[in-house]
Amino acid sequence: MKRQRRNKLKYTISNDHHRIFFNLSLYLLSSFGKTPYKKTGKKTVLSQGSSWGYSADNGPDKWAEKYPLCGASSQSPLDLDVSTAPASNVTGALEFIGYETPLPATVSQNSHTFTLKPIEAKTAKLCLKEGSEKLLFCPGDSLPTIKGGSLPVGEIFEFAQFHLHWGKDDTKGSEHRLVGAMLPAEIHLVHWNKKYGDFGTAAAQSDGLAVVGFFYQVAASSNAKYTPILDGLKKLPGTENNFEVDIGSITLNDLIPAGATDHLHYKGSLTTPPCLESVFWNVFTDKIDLSDADLAVIRGVTDETGKSLSDNYRPPQPLNGRTVYSFKKA
Ligand SMILES: [Zn+2]
Repeated sequence: MKRQRRNKLKYTISNDHHRIFFNLSLYLLSSFGKTPYKKTGKKTVLSQGSSWGYSADNGPDKWAEKYPLCGASSQSPLDLDVSTAPASNVTGALEFIGYETPLPATVSQNSHTFTLKPIEAKTAKLCLKEGSEKLLFCPGDSLPTIKGGSLPVGEIFEFAQFHLHWGKDDTKGSEHRLVGAMLPAEIHLVHWNKKYGDFGTAAAQSDGLAVVGFFYQVAASSNAKYTPILDGLKKLPGTENNFEVDIGSITLNDLIPAGATDHLHYKGSLTTPPCLESVFWNVFTDKIDLSDADLAVIRGVTDETGKSLSDNYRPPQPLNGRTVYSFKKA
């Protein structure tokens, strides 16, 4: 079956304001459209891709200088402890809706992480389907959503993208910690509150975003469900931000532990600048298996200068009087 790679500029120069603000608000894109170049004599060199990162000179300790909210009082991630967290008083589990539906998706990388996003058709004309496989997310289709759990009663949060944080070796990589311990990687499935109409508006509200986090652990055998994503990562050029590789359809349920319910929840922030304090955090305790070979593919992802993106995690932030609750299925 022939599959067209989407134009890489589709999101960035789309007139969909929310897409643009979305990218800005998470700073998951370091530049609009083409990578900025500047001429210096005979050589054309890349200008600095991003104003923040994870190095000594631009890392988490420096973020608040340019992004004051990164120094605010309800920041993420946190060091979590299931054994001491008070029991959640919510009545039901967090519900995942449409997580079983195949989702046509791309992977792309920027200066900070790699991101998986649904491929959305801009017009119904693009929605011709070949065989039974869906190639695009079409007008009228529903993206996956979450609701219930600790989220505001009756409000629906729609899936926008997921991305990972990981270390260069197994001793580090996750953003949240479990009683001080890091795991090799952590996935963040980002959702926005549909009552705000678009991602950008939602991201600036205190109840605008809901992120679902899972930790990864090292397993003996490869996780076959991740093969399309890992194969997509191998095709990233590593020299250009936001180059989107079409990976076919993935099913979100396949990527997370089956039947996961137990999680910790608290109110926090984006873990990257501008550190907006708009996130209902839901960090699950069941872990996702990846082999060393799987993790090696992720560790091979590079930024636009060819530098490894590994160690793209922010350390735990002060609790500042917040309570982290533990939800366990009765
Ligand atoms: Zn994240």
